[in-house]
Amino acid sequence: MLDRIFAHIEASQDYLVELQRQLVAIPALGPRNGGDGEKEKADWFKGHLTSLGFTDIIEMNAPDSDVSCGYRPNLAVILPGIDTTQTFWIISHLDIVPPGDLSLWNANPYELQVNGDIITGRGVEDNHQGLVSSMMLAKALLDLDITPSMNLGLMFVADEETGSHKGLSYIAKHHADIFSENDLILVPDFGESSGELVEIAEKSMMWLRVIVDGKQCHASTPEQGVNTLVAASDLIMKTRKLYDIYDNSNSLFCPAHSTFEATMKEANVANINTLPGRDVFYVDCRIMAEYDLDEVLETFQGMGREVEQSWGVRVRFETVQREQAAPPTEEESPIVQATIKAIKAVYGNAPRPVGVGGGTVAAFLRRKGLPVVVWATLDHQAHQPNETSSIAHTVGDAKVMALVLMNN
Ligand SMILES: [Zn+2]
Repeated sequence: MLDRIFAHIEASQDYLVELQRQLVAIPALGPRNGGDGEKEKADWFKGHLTSLGFTDIIEMNAPDSDVSCGYRPNLAVILPGIDTTQTFWIISHLDIVPPGDLSLWNANPYELQVNGDIITGRGVEDNHQGLVSSMMLAKALLDLDITPSMNLGLMFVADEETGSHKGLSYIAKHHADIFSENDLILVPDFGESSGELVEIAEKSMMWLRVIVDGKQCHASTPEQGVNTLVAASDLIMKTRKLYDIYDNSNSLFCPAHSTFEATMKEANVANINTLPGRDVFYVDCRIMAEYDLDEVLETFQGMGREVEQSWGVRVRFETVQREQAAPPTEEESPIVQATIKAIKAVYGNAPRPVGVGGGTVAAFLRRKGLPVVVWATLDHQAHQPNETSSIAHTVGDAKVMALVLMNN
C-alpha cells in the first residue's frame, strides 16, 4: 500500500507545481504586514478541497476588525481513518510576509517561476512547501481510495507571521477540542536542507530595554555630571554573571545553555566633548524553559540597583518582548519517534531531536499538553527575496508524512 502511495506522490509533481502557482498568485498578508488577510486564499482553498472530494470543511474564523471581511480564516479537513479516535494533524499557515524590496527580485514575486527542481515565488517555502506536501498525501489517499489506519487532518491557519493571535493561538483558545491527547501533530515550518533537525523544544525569550539616566555636562568637568555610558558599561559587564547564575544546560540546544547578550545601543550624545546623561541599550536573553522569567528579571533589577549605588544613576528596565517557553515535547512521544523513523527511511540520513532559541507556533499546542514536532526539509529561504523551494524536498516530505500516517 505504501508503494502505491509513494508512486502516486512521485507522479504528482505537476499537481505540486500547479498548486504552488495558484497559491503564489494570491498574496495573503496580515493587516500588520499591510495586507487584507487570508480570506481570498482560504476561499480558493475551500473550492480546491471541495473539488478533491472533501465535503466537510471546518472553518474557525477569528474575528478581526482590521481586515475588510471582519475575520481571519482558519480551515481544517479530516480524512477519516479506520480508527477515527486518533488523528495525524499537519498544520501549515496560509499567510506570507511581504516581498520587501522588489528590486532584489528577479521576477514578479507573485508569479511562480520553475527552473528544474527549484521553484521561486513569495511563500513557496514558507509555508506553501509544507502545505503542498500535506495536500499531495491527501490527494494520493483520495485518488487511490485508501483509508489510513488513523485520521489524516490538514489544518491551514492564518496569522503565523504576526504572532498567531488570529491563527493557531486562537484555535488553541477557542477550538482546542478539535485535538485529542493521543493525536500526532506535525508543523512543517522549521528545518534545514538535510532534513535532520526535528524541533521538539524551545528556550524562553526575553528582550529588555535598559535605560540609564544620569546627568549631562561638559566632558572636561565630569564631576558636574553623571556619566551614564560608564554606568551602562558596568551594568553590561555585571549581566555576564547571569551565565553563571542560570547555568543549566541541555544538549538538545545549540548552544546548550541560556544566553544573555547585550546587543543594540541607542545613540547618546552627538559630540565627543559631552558626557552622556542618558544611555539606552538592549539585552537579548534565550533562557532554559525551567527558569521563571520574572525571577531572571528580578536578578537584572538587582544588578541595576547595585549600579545605581555605585555610579549615582537611575536604571530602568522595560520588557520589549517576553515569551515563557512551553514545556518541551518528550523525545519518547509517538510523534517524535514516528517522524524520526520516517525521515530516516525516506532520506537515509541521521535525524535527531533539537531545541531552538525562540518561539514557534508549536508552543500554543504544547502549552495545552499536546505533543508537537516542527519539521520540514527547508533551504532557509523563508522571508528572502527570490524565495525558493525544492520539488524533491516537497515530494520527500510528503513521503515522510505518508510513513508517519501509515505506520501507526
Ligand atoms: Zn512559516
